[in-house]
Amino acid sequence: MSKPLIALLSGAGISTDSGIPDYRGPQGLWRRDPEAEKLVTYEYYMGDPEIRRRSWQMRRANRTLQAEPNVAHHAVTALERSGVPVRVITQNVDGLHQLAGMPDRKVLELHGTARTVMCTACGARGPMTDALARVEAGESDPPCLECGGILKSATVMFGERLDPAVLGQAVAIAEACDVFIAVGTTLQVQPAAALAGRAAEHGARLIIVNAEPTPYDDQADEVVREPIGTALPALLGRITDPSDRP
Ligand SMILES: [Zn+2]
Repeated sequence: MSKPLIALLSGAGISTDSGIPDYRGPQGLWRRDPEAEKLVTYEYYMGDPEIRRRSWQMRRANRTLQAEPNVAHHAVTALERSGVPVRVITQNVDGLHQLAGMPDRKVLELHGTARTVMCTACGARGPMTDALARVEAGESDPPCLECGGILKSATVMFGERLDPAVLGQAVAIAEACDVFIAVGTTLQVQPAAALAGRAAEHGARLIIVNAEPTPYDDQADEVVREPIGTALPALLGRITDPSDRP
């Protein structure tokens, strides 16, 4: 019998043990602060140099790039390295799954990545650390070095569309997987919610690991409320241990 394909959908909750707060969830920091939300809203960002200046200062102060993966990220990588086919779909922009050793091609970042900047005019991409070094050196709103266009974080801002190619791949994985594990996500924001539903409709075993109830708990085969740092390694360990397979 071939090994089951595991899809893991991760939200802000998997990274809180790495010191990264929930920024963009329904109760996230940005949603609770209209001024902060403007800094990550495409329309304001593109239209106002002062918003961009403040946005770069916010990125400079943000600790996301210094964060380290935690036991939950490492447990996902360990499962992948054990030979089980794993695909990660993440709502996070922190890149911690890849830092923990997941191959890039096995991680779909629904909301992009905070580790990269992109030009809104020509699409050129580069490391966020390089752009932040320019801010540090005195450029308040560093333009694209290729074309002079406005640079932004390669994250999906409020008011921006998700990358249709990434979304298409995520849907395909949700439909094809045998087990769909939603970790640290409230499943209240699209497309994450729809992906869990799609997986369940296509016959995947749906497992939800989240501190708070989600709208999909009724459809889930298993709901785990324990802290992610202990619950996820235990859960993934059971998947690799054949003696425990039904
Ligand atoms: Zn450019």
